[in-house]
Amino acid sequence: MLSEFALIERYFAHSAVQRGDVALGVGDDAALLRVPPGVELAATVDTLIEGVHFLPGADPESLGHKALAVNLSDLAAMGAEPAWVSLALTLPGADERWLEGFARGFHALAGAHGVQLVGGDTTRGALSISVQAFGFVPAGEALRRSAARPGDLIYVTGTLGDAGLGLEAALGRLAAGSEQAAWLVGRLNRPTPRIAAGLALRGIAHAAIDISDGLRADLGHILAASGVGATVHVERLPLSPAFIALAGGEAGWEVALSAGDDYELCFTVPVAREAQLARALADFGCACTRIGVIEEQPGLRLLRASGSAFVPEAGGGYEHFRLQSDG
Ligand SMILES: [Mg+2]
Repeated sequence: MLSEFALIERYFAHSAVQRGDVALGVGDDAALLRVPPGVELAATVDTLIEGVHFLPGADPESLGHKALAVNLSDLAAMGAEPAWVSLALTLPGADERWLEGFARGFHALAGAHGVQLVGGDTTRGALSISVQAFGFVPAGEALRRSAARPGDLIYVTGTLGDAGLGLEAALGRLAAGSEQAAWLVGRLNRPTPRIAAGLALRGIAHAAIDISDGLRADLGHILAASGVGATVHVERLPLSPAFIALAGGEAGWEVALSAGDDYELCFTVPVAREAQLARALADFGCACTRIGVIEEQPGLRLLRASGSAFVPEAGGGYEHFRLQSDG
């Protein structure tokens, strides 16, 4: 009979990925890692807690994917290429079925991005998952929140609001069982970190952020850090067919503006680089939509196509319960 920690080690002692820049990986007191010359190391950490960031009883394989994905998304938002990751797990007990599923989801995404697991820690307690991720970005080329300038065009990757609506579906508050609802739950549980887009945006985008707390909040971080304002055209917000089928119209815009957990990128591009952006889009691996413009006047203005202001209803119908995402 394996001890609890031997059991955990079975799933995390070996990384599917073996990188040449890892002098020493899992197994000693610390990993030894080589940062290439001319490169800055981007480092980020995110913790997911049961009942706060994910629903109790969540599928372990999806959790393994998501715990890594939200960190890779932060690297993407910096224009950094992911390299290494460490994992700290707090578990109520060593449930082998849970560990096997979690490891499968985690290692599959790490393998897809060439990321090596280089260390970790396990403790006993209420279920909580901390992942720290490290990536490379050529010195001076990182995409910062503070770099937006008046006149920049504002873009987002993919579609917005899917995860927020997926949470409603997961909680049984949308017509259950439909194909659309299942797809939206997938967007909540298995977000796609926009790594390729982040890398392609180096040298093109001024500012970038990943959308973890909703477009309004995260674009707000860019505006605050850059000391600028913006106008966003609500009819331009990119919405998926599944989203439109279940939440079209004005209530839909409110969800697309405020719901978190989509992990798309929001970024700003100077007009002079529009042609460069058009050429780079082929490398994104996803769609990209222009939604507005950065302005000198502080604050975020939401406009309809008619030119009138869009005023979201306070506490719009879809936010009874909200998972927290602090990334
Ligand atoms: Mg972030």
